[in-house]
Amino acid sequence: MDFTLPAEVEETRRKIREFVAAEVLPLESDPASYDDHENIRLDLLDEVRAKARAAGLWAPQMPVERGGLGFSTVGMAGVYEEAARSIFGPVCFNCAAPDDGNMFVLNRVASEAQKERWLQPVVDGKVRSSFVMTEPAPGAGSDPGLMRTTAERKGDRWIVTGRKWFITGAETAQHFILIARTSDDPRKGLSAFLFDRDQPGWEIVRRIPIMGPEEHGGHCELSFDGLEIPDENRLMEVGDGLKLTQIRLGTARLTHCMRWLGMAKRALEICQPYVAERDSFGIKLADRESVQNQLGEAAMAIEIGRLLTMKAAAKLDSGDFARKEVSMAKIQVADVLHKAVDTAIQLMGAKGYSTDTPLEWMYRYARQARLVDGASEVHKMVLARFLMKEGGDFWSWS
Ligand SMILES: Cc1cc2nc3c(=O)[nH]c(=O)nc-3n(C[C@H](O)[C@H](O)[C@H](O)COP(=O)(O)OP(=O)(O)OC[C@H]3O[C@@H](n4cnc5c(N)ncnc54)[C@H](O)[C@@H]3O)c2cc1C
Repeated sequence: MDFTLPAEVEETRRKIREFVAAEVLPLESDPASYDDHENIRLDLLDEVRAKARAAGLWAPQMPVERGGLGFSTVGMAGVYEEAARSIFGPVCFNCAAPDDGNMFVLNRVASEAQKERWLQPVVDGKVRSSFVMTEPAPGAGSDPGLMRTTAERKGDRWIVTGRKWFITGAETAQHFILIARTSDDPRKGLSAFLFDRDQPGWEIVRRIPIMGPEEHGGHCELSFDGLEIPDENRLMEVGDGLKLTQIRLGTARLTHCMRWLGMAKRALEICQPYVAERDSFGIKLADRESVQNQLGEAAMAIEIGRLLTMKAAAKLDSGDFARKEVSMAKIQVADVLHKAVDTAIQLMGAKGYSTDTPLEWMYRYARQARLVDGASEVHKMVLARFLMKEGGDFWSWS
């Protein structure tokens, strides 16, 4: 079994690391670089994105003919981690959520005409996008079967009515992928559509205030009251909404893991010089066994997360949905992110709690990891179902 990254991926990983150190970390450490929602200012982002593109480090997940690097999921796992060494990093290389998952699914399932209209501008960094699925209770959340937003067919158009919330990026997105109910069929009742921000019949009700820093465009509540979508902007077949969601989320969940691992590694990196230099009762913190235990445990937990992520990536590349593997990686890495950031804050004492380092930013951000794209409990339910069905084959190598 060879865990070495392919030469091209390793080369890009090294270049992204250097780019982040030279171009992104200096911005991250300057309070003037932040927008009102604790993310990189959009004017600065445009500048860094232009540099990343010029350096040949743009959109690793997209095909070369669309302007990306054409990396496999394994390749993405190799480089996303480095991009996420900075809290500003992923968006600078156009591999941040939700554009990342949206580009992936459009590239996988859209027609050529749809790709030109809806995907290419996102790949080019000209517009941003959102994925519109979750609804306030009693609508669809963990259980998509509860979906209430409807798309009703009228001739060659679909009329959308309903409410969605927690739609990441909606305030700045131009292109939207919408999941709505088109029938009561329990398996084929949902369908997927594309719509543009400028179409009438929908509105942003509010940008939902949250505990953590925000992606550009925030997390918004949307209401639909007669949005008309031409049938040519339907994705896949009528009734394939759940299938499209599964295709998107398999890889999107894993790319969250890749980025969270980069953030977890950075958290430990931030606290290392502190524990190496800080004296306490006659010796350095780093020489205390209890401190070594905390660092060792966090480092090992990160490596377990990396192995689960890489295994799931390889399985996705083999054409498998890798549902089990992705769920395991998602649960583990969400916990690892908490553990690593919490450990780093604890070991840095009061400084860790201050805003002098990005640790407190990461700590608030990390809380969403156990909720977004499937709560950890739901992924455990999925694993239990596989175990009950497969028995000992759950752990098969093949
Ligand atoms: C920061 C953030 C960004 C998001 N971005 C988007 C987005 O861009 N687009 C989008 O469509 N959605 C988005 N979401 C929504 C997200 O996918 C949902 O929050 C998630 O699917 C859970 O749904 P829910 O919030 O309705 O929780 P519920 O379904 O109400 O569940 C509440 C809790 O109940 C427990 N639970 C639920 N089901 C089970 C079960 N089967 N077994 C055991 N326990 C269970 C879990 O602890 C869960 O956290 C985002 C959410 C967050 C926090």
